[in-house]
Order: sequence, then structure tokens, then C-alpha cells
Amino acid sequence: EFDVEFRAVTKLYGNVTAVSDIDLKLERGAFVALLGPSGCGKTTCLRMIGGFEQPTSGELLIGGAPMQGVPAYRRPVNMVFQQYALFPHFDVETNVAYGLRQIRPKLSDTEVMRRVGEVLEQVHLEKFRKRRIHEMSGGQQQRVALARAIVNKPRVLLLDEPLAALDKKLRTAMQMELQNLHRDLGITFLLVTHDQEEALSMSDRVCVMNAGKIVQFASPQEIYDN
Ligand code: ADP
Ligand code: ADP
Repeated sequence: EFDVEFRAVTKLYGNVTAVSDIDLKLERGAFVALLGPSGCGKTTCLRMIGGFEQPTSGELLIGGAPMQGVPAYRRPVNMVFQQYALFPHFDVETNVAYGLRQIRPKLSDTEVMRRVGEVLEQVHLEKFRKRRIHEMSGGQQQRVALARAIVNKPRVLLLDEPLAALDKKLRTAMQMELQNLHRDLGITFLLVTHDQEEALSMSDRVCVMNAGKIVQFASPQEIYDN
């Protein structure tokens, strides 16, 4: 059983072919980088997994289950964006709790806050619970966005160029944090990037796309060796 599986998936926008007949299997717990030039179909793949776009043809499965007709909020996945989409005037705790309350409206406040505390520890923000987002640095805000995305324990975390807005020094630090987080959580990470260096250094599988097709799927080592 694979965490994510594309079977002959095609996605058209009008007469533009964004994704063309792709087959892809992501093993449980893998860290996969989706690499390729702008416009090659990376974000479309992520959005189909997330349930924000439907395949035009083919089949998409998560944890072995077909996703046709399953709305985004019912899927065991979560997405982190380049723009964090946090509430700037609310504090960290409120922002993270929001992610959980949307999906599990019946959880008690005590339980929500217990889980929020747990993920804030995982992203090393436990001392910032009451800090407002607009008073935090870019790297800290990105960690809040990560905490919000993992608080409901998704099976797959989708990361759409999450570090692109950060400067180089901070980006390197966050790359290491993401790798640590992946190891600690043990869930599947699928990271979209157009930065080859980033893809090769962070992931254990690189999926290279071009013009809507997968042109290579290999370990970083195999790619270096070629
Ligand atoms: P990326 O950073 O992946 O290259 P873009 O900046 O190209 O994304 O696109 C941002 C958003 O705009 C995407 O969510 C996509 O769905 C939408 N989009 C991209 N290209 C078009 C287009 N030609 N027509 C309408 N919407 C588009
Ligand atoms: P990437 O993430 O690799 O930059 P995208 O998946 O955003 O690529 O886009 C793949 C292709 O689909 C591009 O040609 C883009 O312009 C087009 N596209 C993406 N979203 C839309 C949309 N909502 N409407 C029309 N065309 C789109």
C-alpha cells in the first residue's frame, strides 16, 4: 500500500494540458521532492492530492483509497503554502488551534490546547504561544504555518515552495528543521521546489517533472551519479 498513488492522471485546464498521463507512487514515510521548471505541473499535482483540483482523467488514491468525490477537508493530507495565510493579529496558539477546530469541531478546548502545545514543541515554538504573528520573523511564521498543518496529524504533508520567501541563510536553517520534523513525525512529505540543490539535499526521492510529465524518479544519489 502506498500513501499516494497516481494512476494515469491527466489534468486539463481548458485546452492547456497541465499534467499528462502520469503514474506515481509515494511510499509511506518518504520525503519526496517534486522538482521542475515553472509551469511544468507541480502545483497542479499537489492541488489534486489536496482535493483542490480534480483529475480530468485517471485515478488518484491516498492510503489505498480512491479520492474521487472526497472533499479536501475529508482527506488525510494538509498543505503548507509559500504565503503562510496566518491571521496576523491573532497569537500563535489561536492560529494553530484554528487548523484543528476546523476539522475537529467537537474536540474540547482542553484537548485542542493540549494538542496545540504538543505541536508547538515539535516546531520549537513553545515559548511563543501568546506571541502575535505580526510580531514574529519570517522563519518563525513559517514554523507556525507548519504547526497548523500538522496539528490534525495528516498522513501526508504537502509543501508548496514553503521556503521560497525566506532569505538564503534562513532557508538553509529551515531546510534542516524540515528534515528533522520529517524524521520526528514519520509521515510522508511531498515538497514542491524549482531549486535542484534544495531537492537533492533534503529529500530521499526526487520526482523530476517537465511539461506535465514525470521524466525521472530516483534517489538524490542516483541523480548525482548520472
Ligand atoms: P507556480 O508558483 O506554481 O508557478 P503560478 O504563480 O503560476 O504558480 O500560479 C498561481 C495560481 O494561479 C495557481 O494556483 C494556478 O492554479 C493559477 N494559474 C496559473 N496559471 C494560470 C492560468 N494560465 N490561468 C488561470 N489560472 C492560472
Ligand atoms: P508549476 O507548479 O510547475 O509551476 P502549475 O501546476 O502551476 O505548474 O501549472 C501547470 C500548467 O497549467 C501551466 O501551464 C499553468 O499556466 C497552467 N495552469 C495552472 N493552473 C491553471 C488554472 N487554474 N487555469 C488555467 N491554467 C492553469
